Amino acid sequence: MRVVVVGGGLAGIAAALAAADGGAQVALVERRARLGGLTWSFRRHGLSFDNGQHVFLRCCTAYRAFLHRLDAADQVTLQRRLDVPVVAPGGRTAHIRRDGLPSPLHLGRSLLSYGHLSVGDRARLGRAVVGLRGLDLDDPALDAETFGAWLARHGQRPAAVAGLWDLVTLPTVNLPAAEASLALGAKVFRTGLLDTNDGADIGWSLVPLGDLHGANAARALEAAGVEVVLGTAVDRLDVDGAGDRFTVGAGGRDLEAEGVVCALAPEAAAALLPAGARPDVSRLGASPIVNVHLVLDRRVTDLPLAAAVGSPVQFVFDHTAASGLTGGGQCLTISLSAADAEIGRRPEALIAGFHAALGDLFPAARHARLVDGVVSREHRATFRGAPGSGAGRPPAATPVPGLALAGAWCATGWPATMEGAVRSGTAAATALLDRAGVSAPHVPADRAPGGAGRALPPAPDLEEASA
Ligand SMILES: Cc1cc2nc3c(=O)[nH]c(=O)nc-3n(C[C@H](O)[C@H](O)[C@H](O)COP(=O)(O)OP(=O)(O)OC[C@H]3O[C@@H](n4cnc5c(N)ncnc54)[C@H](O)[C@@H]3O)c2cc1C
Repeated sequence: MRVVVVGGGLAGIAAALAAADGGAQVALVERRARLGGLTWSFRRHGLSFDNGQHVFLRCCTAYRAFLHRLDAADQVTLQRRLDVPVVAPGGRTAHIRRDGLPSPLHLGRSLLSYGHLSVGDRARLGRAVVGLRGLDLDDPALDAETFGAWLARHGQRPAAVAGLWDLVTLPTVNLPAAEASLALGAKVFRTGLLDTNDGADIGWSLVPLGDLHGANAARALEAAGVEVVLGTAVDRLDVDGAGDRFTVGAGGRDLEAEGVVCALAPEAAAALLPAGARPDVSRLGASPIVNVHLVLDRRVTDLPLAAAVGSPVQFVFDHTAASGLTGGGQCLTISLSAADAEIGRRPEALIAGFHAALGDLFPAARHARLVDGVVSREHRATFRGAPGSGAGRPPAATPVPGLALAGAWCATGWPATMEGAVRSGTAAATALLDRAGVSAPHVPADRAPGGAGRALPPAPDLEEASA
C-alpha cells in the first residue's frame, strides 16, 4: 500500500513512521525545509533558541514512545518526582510537589503547606479534587461549560484559580480556566495529577527542539524507508470515486497513493481536503504563545524551571545548556501561554518588562546585565480549547475511505499537545492500515510502562522570523 503523509509536524512524522512500520510504502511531504512543525529552533549570536519551551509529562506515553522510536530518549530529562517551585515577587517560594503516596494523597502534603493560597482556599481544594475524580471524561456535556465556572461551583475562589489551578491550565490548555473547556481542564488534571501519582512528573528536552524532533525524525524516517520531500507544499489532492486512489500534487510532481494522511493545521487541512471530507474548523479558533528569551551575564537562579504567581511571568526555564551558552552566564526562557495581551507588543518592551519582572522574582537578576534578548511568537500555537471546541475536532477516519486526518487539533481527548499530535498521527496510520487489512502499529496505552524519558540526572525554548 502506498501512503502519502501531508505535513511534517509531529503528527505527520508519527503517521509516516507508523505506516512504514506497518509495511506501507510511504512518502512524507512538508512545505518547509525542515521537519518538526510547531517545534523548531533558531540560532542567534551563536546560541540556539527554541520557538517555544516545550514540556511533556510522564503520562504522555505516546510522545515518550515516539521519542524512543526516534532514538532520542536520552536527549530529554524527566523529573523523578513532580516538583514545581512557585515563586512570587520578593522571592517567596512554595512548591507543588508529590511524594510516594497514592493519588490523590501524593499532593496532600505539598498543598497543605502551599503558601500562595490562604488556609481557607487550601481547605477548599479537596472539594474540587473529589468533584474532578467523579467526572466522566467521555461525557459531551463537559464541553458545554468553562473549567472556571465549574471550579467556582466547586468552591474555588478567584485567588485559588490564579494561585494554583491556572498554573496547570494555562500551559496545558493554552487558556486560563475562565475560558477553557471543562472537558480539557478535567482531562489534564485527571490524567496528569489524579488518575495516577506520577503522571505529572515533568520532562523537557536537553537539546534544541530542531535536533530532538527535526534531525532525529529525518534519520528515523530515512531508516524506515520513508521518502521525505521537504520544501514542497502540497497544493492539490485528487481522489477517485471509490475514495481509495489519490493523486497528491506537490511542487509540480504528482504522487500516486492508495492512502493519504492529512497532518496539517486545521485551516490548511480544510483548504486542501475534498468537500466530502472537509472538517468544519470554524469553531476551533487559535490561541497564541509568546516566549521571551533573556541572556544574562551571570546566573540568577539554580532552578531548572519555576512557575510564578503575582507576576507577569508564567513559567521560566533555564535554557542555558540547550542554548550552548558557556562562561558563567545564564539563558532564561519565559513562556507565556494564552498570550493575547503580549502577542502584539513590541519586542523591546517585552524584553525590558520581563527582565524587570525577573528581578522581582529572583533578586540576583536585578544586578544581572542583559547580554541579549529575543522574543518568539506563535500566533496560532494551538486551537482555542474553549467550550464547544470539542465538536470541531474530527476523528482520524474520514468519509473518504483512504483518507485519514491527523494533527494535535483532531479528536484525541487531549489538548493541543505533542502527545495529542503523536496520538493523532498513529491513529490516522492505524485507520488506513486497518482498512487495508494490514496489522496496525501499537498505540500505547495511557499507562504503558517504561518508555522514553527515563529518569536521567536532572538538568538544568518567533514567528518564523524572530523579533
Ligand atoms: C510556542 C509553543 C509552545 C508549545 N508548548 C507545548 C508544550 O509545552 N507541550 C506540548 O505538549 N505541546 C506544546 N505545544 C503544542 C505542540 O507543539 C503542537 O501541538 C504540536 O507540535 C502540533 O503538531 P502537529 O503535527 O499537529 O501540527 P504542526 O506542527 O502545525 O504540523 C503541520 C505541518 O504541516 C506543514 N504544512 C502546512 N501546509 C502544508 C502543505 N500545503 N503541504 C505540506 N506541508 C504543509 C507545516 O509546515 C507543518 O510542518 C506548543 C506549541 C507552541 C507553538
